[in-house]
Amino acid sequence: MNLISTIRTRINGRVLPMINMPKPFSFVGAGSALSLCREIAGTGVKRVLLITDGPLFKMGLVDPIVASLKDSGLTVEVYSDVVPDPGFDVVMAGVDKLKAFKADAVLAVGGGSSIDCAKAILMCHANNAHPSTLTGIWLYARPRKKILPFFAIPTTAGTGSEVTIAAVVSDKVAQMKYAMVDPKMVPSMVALDPELMVGLPPFITAPTGMDALTHAVEAYISTMATAETDELARMATASVMRNLLEAYNNGSNIQVREAMAVASSMAGLAFTRAGVGYVHAFAHQMGGLYHVPHGLANAIILPLVLEFSKIKCAHRLADLARVSGIGKSGASDSQLADAFIAKIREMNAAMDIPQTIKELKREDFAKIIDRALAEAHGTYGVPRYMSREDSSEMLTKLLA
Ligand SMILES: [Zn+2]
Repeated sequence: MNLISTIRTRINGRVLPMINMPKPFSFVGAGSALSLCREIAGTGVKRVLLITDGPLFKMGLVDPIVASLKDSGLTVEVYSDVVPDPGFDVVMAGVDKLKAFKADAVLAVGGGSSIDCAKAILMCHANNAHPSTLTGIWLYARPRKKILPFFAIPTTAGTGSEVTIAAVVSDKVAQMKYAMVDPKMVPSMVALDPELMVGLPPFITAPTGMDALTHAVEAYISTMATAETDELARMATASVMRNLLEAYNNGSNIQVREAMAVASSMAGLAFTRAGVGYVHAFAHQMGGLYHVPHGLANAIILPLVLEFSKIKCAHRLADLARVSGIGKSGASDSQLADAFIAKIREMNAAMDIPQTIKELKREDFAKIIDRALAEAHGTYGVPRYMSREDSSEMLTKLLA
């Protein structure tokens, strides 16, 4: 098992750096969402389907964006049925909407669910296929058709979905989350506009920010990391460590919101190539089975996976501690790694993130372990392999 996984991970590690991963052009700063809207009109598209979720739409957050697109001469229709962890039904309804409106471009506005849902809608539309047939990571071997012009405006700082090659969709019947992976799903232009984030409540700011941190840390300790992903992951980690608590405590601080939005995108660029690890593999199961929000599950699981992995990656965790100004000078790598993990626990506590997952049940352990290890092994470049026994031990610590 370990040998096969290691070989598959090595192949991924060799193949992924050779794949051209497009990076979107990013507009950054207060007002950048409207700059992007004006730019969209300049690309020659005429009919834009704006994809968002119901609450954002009702709050009026997308109104200025719609107005700006219309002022630029575009015809706009809104699909606002995206829900957290969108299922196949929401994706297919979006495909129908896109076809009925005859859209020639899509703009996603929202958190990771809206951007992922838009990616899935575009992929299903382009390939005339159901999302269940497009999941999986081996899409490189099965080329998909090109999607319509795609643009994104994230309204949370965490998922990094605006820059990644992946979209997570849920199979509500099987209670599973699946990733569609294809470089064609990367938007061509995005806006990181902190003005859209100042109203985010602390209970969203905290888990989404910890999701960004998890992306950066898992990418940094991945065996598939490259010099480029290392640089991005270090910068993202340092920025989240410096800014997240302030964003949580003082959400209207626009500089801090902007820093978090940029950190989230940098972390996204790091993990889209280096991959994630066990934190995500287990968090996806908590989302699929119990609907625990993605960032929250990551935040709770992250310190436990790092404690388990430390023996194989203390020097990497020490790097992240140093770049974040954590730990005493002259401390050993092991001490710095411990200080880094302790800091994550401290941040979780300061943001009222619990240490356990209250929905988790011991009778589900076997199912969770099967699925998490199947997701991680051979796909993610984890620094230390987890056995079923190791997994069970970790899950026991997560029981409320
Ligand atoms: Zn994530």
